[in-house]
Amino acid sequence: MPALIDVLAALDALWPPERAEQWDAVGTVCGDPDAEVGRVLFAVDPVQEVADEAVKLGADLLVTHHPLYLRGTTTVAASTFKGRVVHTLIKNDIALHVAHTNADRADPGVSDALAGALDLRITGPLVPDPTDPAGRRGLGRVCELDHPVALRDFAERAAARLPATAQGIRFSGDPDRLIRTVAVCGGSGDSLFAEVRAAGVDAYLTADLRHHPASEAQQAAAMPGGDDLALLDAAHWATEWPWVEQAAAQLDEISDRHGWGLRTHISRTVTDPWTAHAPTPAHVPPTTTPGAPR
Ligand SMILES: [Zn+2]
Repeated sequence: MPALIDVLAALDALWPPERAEQWDAVGTVCGDPDAEVGRVLFAVDPVQEVADEAVKLGADLLVTHHPLYLRGTTTVAASTFKGRVVHTLIKNDIALHVAHTNADRADPGVSDALAGALDLRITGPLVPDPTDPAGRRGLGRVCELDHPVALRDFAERAAARLPATAQGIRFSGDPDRLIRTVAVCGGSGDSLFAEVRAAGVDAYLTADLRHHPASEAQQAAAMPGGDDLALLDAAHWATEWPWVEQAAAQLDEISDRHGWGLRTHISRTVTDPWTAHAPTPAHVPPTTTPGAPR
């Protein structure tokens, strides 16, 4: 069995930590470099349910996309929810390693996995990494559909292909309009509207689209000569979950090459914070709130 230090070196080669954003906190959170690794669990969020899953599985290493501690801390006491995760992992000899924005920018990265789940053909990154002469790395991906489909059908495809969440897929635009080109960005993507417009795509699928950026994009799209951009908003966790499968397959391949015999596992625990959804009974204009003064 390989030592943790060897497995981490392989992971760092896939997602070099120096390519993470300045504000990010990637790398190894806990773990003994000399410990042997036989089983690895991949997940999006380093939350208690996932730590418990790693214990149950007998994992030696948990690899997550989101950091446990993004900012500095002065305590890992088990009376805090993050400290409890640390205690659970250390008591059970499980290392935790994070690949966040370094995995976003990789080739293949988080948005490649998202595009793959949606059966999209990638033409290039949405925001190319200037340090990559080949122009393959960067944030988000610009993609084409093999066959144009109506926006409604594309939204249904996304709802069916991404893991189920309470939110499902929200979308904005004429449901019958044909979608030929799509930009995708796994995770929060509403800071990339300028790049999406410049890409001239028919639709943008991402997560966490807030009211103002989405409203402004919609208003600009509707202007004469506007870009007529359709928006699709999925749950943040659901847009990043396909990376978990991709990452596990990447480590499998490395393990085979080295004869490590690692057993990799994919967490199917839903860690999206939203757990339920109450649909509006019908699309009716707002009426006076019952009981409001008139
Ligand atoms: Zn994320």
